[in-house]
Amino acid sequence: MLEVKRADFPVLVNNEKMIYMDSAATSLKPQIVIDKINEYYTKYGVNIHRGVYDLSSKATDEYEELRTVVAKFINCKPREVVYTKGTTNGLNMLAQILKANIHEGDEIIVSQLDHHSLVMPWQNVAKEKGAKLVFIELNEKNQITIENFKKVLTKKTKIVNLTYVSNVLGVVAPVKEITKLAHEIGAIVICDGAQAVPHMKVDVQDLDVDFLAFSGHKMLGPTGCGILYGKYDLLNSLEPEEFGGDMNDGVEMYDSTFKDAPEKFEAGTPNIAGLIALKPAIEYLSKLGMENVHNHSLSLAKYVVENIKNNDMIELYTKEPESGIVTFNIKGIHPHDTATFLAAQNICVRAGHHCAQLITHHLGCMGTVRASFYIYNTIEEAQALVAAINGACEYFKEWII
Ligand code: PMP
Repeated sequence: MLEVKRADFPVLVNNEKMIYMDSAATSLKPQIVIDKINEYYTKYGVNIHRGVYDLSSKATDEYEELRTVVAKFINCKPREVVYTKGTTNGLNMLAQILKANIHEGDEIIVSQLDHHSLVMPWQNVAKEKGAKLVFIELNEKNQITIENFKKVLTKKTKIVNLTYVSNVLGVVAPVKEITKLAHEIGAIVICDGAQAVPHMKVDVQDLDVDFLAFSGHKMLGPTGCGILYGKYDLLNSLEPEEFGGDMNDGVEMYDSTFKDAPEKFEAGTPNIAGLIALKPAIEYLSKLGMENVHNHSLSLAKYVVENIKNNDMIELYTKEPESGIVTFNIKGIHPHDTATFLAAQNICVRAGHHCAQLITHHLGCMGTVRASFYIYNTIEEAQALVAAINGACEYFKEWII
């Protein structure tokens, strides 16, 4: 088990009884991240890249340093790191900048595990270009398999979208193997790392994906900031989709030139404070070790599954945890009612479709209850969750016809 101090997380200190199991939605922030935001605004809170005075240089250095920190964390080059507002922003940007390469009849691979922010931008591109969305069939455990991927990969495949870790079920896709197959036919691989990068070691060179998007706020960092990784030559060959300050090289009356990547994809004043404060968040995780982070959350998920799987009032969707996510329903009970019961016992979980309606429909339900664990959760909290779920089953027994 990881040794993480509850005292490091002010929200936990200020809500002493709270058991927070909604980290897949957003993680809590350690004091050092909050301090860094404060440091920026109080000590050198000016704009970046623009001023020649000392404070502007200081802000710019702090801001640019994040590229090196991220590069080390995911094993890429600093100039392959594009700053975004988050995963949604990164994935939408990709669909826009890549769509020039999509033509009528082309195929774009997605899956029912995908978050709305991965599948919806490509639905629009497919409609606009007369291309086709092709879904990888999930196996009986709702996983993506290489065999099923091979069935949809054709010479027409241009883009392969992959959710590394599902935010609903916690299943992990075989990204490396699929990427290899996709590259054999020249397709571009986009990986949604929103639930992977905060929780496990992700090495983009080893995976060989072309793009990877993730959010700062799910990995101890501030909201409104994220990262889009892209292989440099490919990234730099693409045209920007947003225009304005800082991304241009020169502007004439009827035409403009752009800087090279990553700057050409970073128009306007960014979330400077947020991006600067993402550095201590990544450093906090690195210190713990990503293997330890993964094992910690996984062991809590396994404990919960082991202790509720024989309760026949429970429909368990995460039968064999692969990450720190456990998803279930009490049969016949609306997930919001279950989550409300748990909330009354200070347990914060998420209920609903988790912005991934395709998998909810596939599971044949209107929504699910999701407990998602992170570094600050403890075995005692997992035990409290099991007890509360059992209590909920007792309570709701009479409701079920
Ligand atoms: N993809 C996945 C798998 C997610 O879990 C989320 C957040 N729930 C997103 C994308 C979107 O992330 P954000 O809201 O931070 O842009």
